[in-house]
Amino acid sequence: MQLAMIGVGQAGGKILDTFLEYDDRTRGTTVRAPLAVNTATADLMGLEYVPKRNRILIGQTRVKGHGVGADNELGTEIAQEDIDEIQGALNDVPTHEVDAFLIVAALGGGTGSGVAPVIAKQLKRIYAEPVYGLGILPGSDEGGIYTLNAARSFMTFTREVDNLILFDNDAWRETGESVETGFQTINEELVRRLGLLFGAGEIGKGPTPESVVDSSEIINTLGSGGVSSVGYAVDRVDRSKGKGLLARFGKAESEGIDDVDTTNRITSLVRKATLGRLTLPCELDGVERALVVVAGPPEYLNRKGIERGRRWVEEQTGSMEVRGGDFPLPDEDAVAAVVLLSGLTDVPRVKGLQRVAIEAMRNLDEIREESDANLERLLSEGADDLSPLF
Ligand code: GDP
Repeated sequence: MQLAMIGVGQAGGKILDTFLEYDDRTRGTTVRAPLAVNTATADLMGLEYVPKRNRILIGQTRVKGHGVGADNELGTEIAQEDIDEIQGALNDVPTHEVDAFLIVAALGGGTGSGVAPVIAKQLKRIYAEPVYGLGILPGSDEGGIYTLNAARSFMTFTREVDNLILFDNDAWRETGESVETGFQTINEELVRRLGLLFGAGEIGKGPTPESVVDSSEIINTLGSGGVSSVGYAVDRVDRSKGKGLLARFGKAESEGIDDVDTTNRITSLVRKATLGRLTLPCELDGVERALVVVAGPPEYLNRKGIERGRRWVEEQTGSMEVRGGDFPLPDEDAVAAVVLLSGLTDVPRVKGLQRVAIEAMRNLDEIREESDANLERLLSEGADDLSPLF
């Protein structure tokens, strides 16, 4: 599946950069058109893989390339003011060659959080292709402003996109790692999952799968509206053993590989991917749709394993809409399962964010009501004071 990928803000740009590096390394073509958008010059300059002509700086008259800090309302204003500039860059995207848009942004900061929903709205208004979001939720130790930004941005971003895939930094914090190394590691983890998921939809590349996952299956699983999470598990296989010997006797690589082992490996990988660390922890019985992709050397993939894994996900989630397929990768020496869980209805973290957003709105109303009352009091006091003069 080919994507126009738009990285907004610092984290969005870095994840886009990591995706391009992944494509480069795996000879993938998932990111058909990259675009990095930011209000901070330094963040754009720090990118390595996004071509210079595909980086755009917005809000120059307002913040002069210094970014918006954690002020996501300023981010939103700048995006609205500079929407023509953003559209100008989008005009260069070969939309007829992409299956969907993916807007990547951290929801806790200022730029990504404020700008991403504005870009999503613009894309939905102009293009027929689906528009997805990949949102990074802040760690709970990052402070109130990050949570408040994420709560607000989450509400608008989910409204504007066809599906919002979430990654919760809180669930992925590692102790003992510096923040930067930590981010690098989790960005790579995230890209590996999405790279396999979207890469599976790139038909015509490499050997033919036994059960094809085409882009329409990914699009149907993501559906229209809602939130998603992605699971992943991997198992190395020793291909050196059989290969040399079998090749010497002119036998196929699949000979000597136990079919039962292959089936069992696949089903256990699907379970591990679903029950292990998800990009966003969620309850399985709140899953509306799912897609199982199993990738690896063709001789280690089989239809039976995928079908069993798919049925297991059906049983666990109670969903009647679980798709499955394989992604043959002849050069790999590992089998991996990626499980996309979509249309989530029971996500504690999302409920928490919704509560924060509602609370913040109520507080704003209270502050406003209070200041209205204060204003009236001041005016009437002022009028009393002033009356003798008239
Ligand atoms: P912006 O440039 O104003 O949009 O701000 P950032 O993109 O830096 O957003 C801040 C949030 O993103 C915080 O919650 C950080 O924890 C998170 N963050 C920053 N960089 C990364 C990154 O490379 N990866 C991940 N997963 N999160 C990041």
